[in-house]
Amino acid sequence: MSTIKQVIARRVWDSRGRPTVEVSLRLDSGVIGRGIAPAGASRGALEAVDLRDGGTRFAGMDVMHAVDNVNRIIAPALIGLPVDAQETIDARLIALDPSPTKAMLGGNATVATSFAAIHAAAASWERPLWQQISETYQRIPRVPLPEIQIFGGGAHADHRVDIQDFMVMVPGAKDFDEVLEVTAEVYLAAGELLSWRSERTGVADEGGWWPAFDSNEQALELLTLAIQKAGEKPGERVVIALDVAASQFGKPNAYRLGLEKRELDTSAMIDLLGSWIDTYPVASIEDPLSEQDTQGWIEFNRRFAGRVQVVGDDYLVTNAELVQEAASAGACNTLLLKVNQAGTLTEAIRAFESAEAASWRTIVSARSGESEDVTVSHLATGLGCGQLKVGSFARSERMAKWNECLRIQDELGTSAFVGSEPLSNTSYA
Ligand code: PGA
Ligand code: ZN
Repeated sequence: MSTIKQVIARRVWDSRGRPTVEVSLRLDSGVIGRGIAPAGASRGALEAVDLRDGGTRFAGMDVMHAVDNVNRIIAPALIGLPVDAQETIDARLIALDPSPTKAMLGGNATVATSFAAIHAAAASWERPLWQQISETYQRIPRVPLPEIQIFGGGAHADHRVDIQDFMVMVPGAKDFDEVLEVTAEVYLAAGELLSWRSERTGVADEGGWWPAFDSNEQALELLTLAIQKAGEKPGERVVIALDVAASQFGKPNAYRLGLEKRELDTSAMIDLLGSWIDTYPVASIEDPLSEQDTQGWIEFNRRFAGRVQVVGDDYLVTNAELVQEAASAGACNTLLLKVNQAGTLTEAIRAFESAEAASWRTIVSARSGESEDVTVSHLATGLGCGQLKVGSFARSERMAKWNECLRIQDELGTSAFVGSEPLSNTSYA
């Protein structure tokens, strides 16, 4: 079995033009695996720390400390380990920084290393990464159903609208190609509708159209119109998914809708989201309430879990204990899995296992700061978790991940596409 011979980190640049950490891990056989840390803009308070140098250089965003941590501290601890032992590799990372948020080494240093290790293991077996993941974690590989953003908002668009992601899903598609074909038409139609209002002003951080709207609901209206303009009947082949990212503008009993200049208490916020579920073909809502508003989550989930999937992102921060707590409280029913929130692949898998134990769904997700790294496409497929969220239908850091799913589907065959199954027990139509 191949062992780790060399671990080298370097600074590379992400989709926002900010520094990030890349790790190359070389095996004794000469094989190399590489991982790049993504970075969030709307981050949960409890997620792994994205270690930045501070100061004035690149607005304080440089990562040379994190790079140095890999080269000086992590590398010597991993050399000689068998590359197949992902759990042992990640356990070393955790032992080097036992703080709950990887504040010392930096979650960006640990996640890039953890990704590089599984890539190197796949390369040493001459396997695609999805297969390495499916064998390592003993799951049946399945090509995921994507959530694809059409309008960006929230922290990704200077809070021009409060809601962060207005997305579509195509559960009625027969394969991944058809998902992208339908999405391409909806994305195009949405852009045309905006330009007719002469308000199209480029794209937000994840490639969705810049949200030039007078209210949050207007974005929903226009998205529904775009679905129709693309020749689809909303709620049939195409449905809507939202990421409210409510921690960004709310806390219990104080949800401040900046655009509409009003503040809602928790129950009014739940009623507002409920009215959208009644009016538009919404099948999935992520972070409907602030991460501090557990009572609000429980109430929202009680009222709407039968109609939409209730997704925890900032609320769960890919943490196994938080998933278990939320499951016993009945606060949501779907995990958004971001490996860099946990800091290592192994810890993210623990959260996934907790979600499975609670009979929840899981959506593997990228971050708003991304790169050419396509690990998430393979992770969603290899775990067979059913769903994948990587942003919009523009910008190469997003398209690279959708295109990778097309290649994976070619290897696995269209019968491996999950289709409508992940949403089959929501009554969105
Ligand atoms: P982030 O946003 O990567 O900026 O945190 C993505 C999301 O909230 O899902
Ligand atoms: Zn989110």
